[in-house]
Amino acid sequence: MDRIIQQTDNDAFSSKICAIECKYLPPPQDALLDARGNKDIQELYRGFAQMHNEYYAQLKEESRNVYGRIRRMTRNPFPVMNYGTYLRTLAIDTTALKFLEGIPQGTEFQIVNLGCGSDLRSLQYLGAFPSLKRFVDIDFTDAIELKGRILDRPGPLHTLTEQFGDRYVIFEGDLRELKGTMEKLQSVLDPSLPTVFITECVLCYMTDSDSQQLITTIMETFSHALWVSYDPIGGSAPGDRFGTIMKQNLMDSRNLDMPTLLQYNSKDNFATRWENCKTVKSEVNVRDMWDFLESSITTKEKGRLRSLQFLDEIEELRVMQSHYVILSVTWGC
Ligand code: SAM
Repeated sequence: MDRIIQQTDNDAFSSKICAIECKYLPPPQDALLDARGNKDIQELYRGFAQMHNEYYAQLKEESRNVYGRIRRMTRNPFPVMNYGTYLRTLAIDTTALKFLEGIPQGTEFQIVNLGCGSDLRSLQYLGAFPSLKRFVDIDFTDAIELKGRILDRPGPLHTLTEQFGDRYVIFEGDLRELKGTMEKLQSVLDPSLPTVFITECVLCYMTDSDSQQLITTIMETFSHALWVSYDPIGGSAPGDRFGTIMKQNLMDSRNLDMPTLLQYNSKDNFATRWENCKTVKSEVNVRDMWDFLESSITTKEKGRLRSLQFLDEIEELRVMQSHYVILSVTWGC
């Protein structure tokens, strides 16, 4: 099962490559309604396409197998999928940037990408923020070994990671092994510094007790932080079968389980995972991705998105995006 979970990173990376090839990503300067966000977004997405294309090219040299799988997945770039990738990428980054705006300029901070897979936010954020003291990537051993080998290959990515030195830390680890995970994090992070935790499509593959222990322990250990999480929710409206069908499809096609999809089936239910930590006072905000598209993206940018590919299934897009959420939890602020 771990191997199957790990392979979901191939979906995530291939979706990103598709979104880049079809010009959804990187977003242009005026994508967001919040004008302040636009300035930071530009900085963050500098060299975004080149960085991902270079990683993809190096992956081809490092693992023909994984490259071939990803290449096959990019052959049919569905607009609905591209919208999804665009929205999740932008929603996570705008949430993180908003939190970082609230930190006095020059204050050191840290970011942890739990279940990072091939995600390259480490390089984006380390390049954009000189006061980012540490960026920690953590994932299963095989995933990290492959990522490490790719980043070690001579080329621009290796040059970048060398420049970042010990500001970039990459750990092999199983998030279900709480003690080991916390020891690793605490060995390189200062729990008193502002810290951003990212889980992008990761908690959905963990059991309730494993993810709850991880959330509670991190909340109790780090004194000032943001947790930003992107995940699917099963749906709670009467007759809503989205989650049941998704769960069944994943099980039938890949033998892959999403153990909490039907349990945390609504935005409110999803938020309870952080609210369950009674010892830490936090502020929780959850939106679905349809809401994010409707209320955070400029009319001009929506027009640009519509021009990229023909999308006749707007209802399908609405249904799908209302079953994915972006959660922002801050504590100690
Ligand atoms: N977060 C990345 C992104 O969105 O691009 C990757 C998402 S991928 C769908 C899920 C990732 O979570 C995989 O890389 C998988 O290996 C990782 N993951 C899931 N459960 C994990 C666990 N218990 N320990 C470490 N990594 C885990």
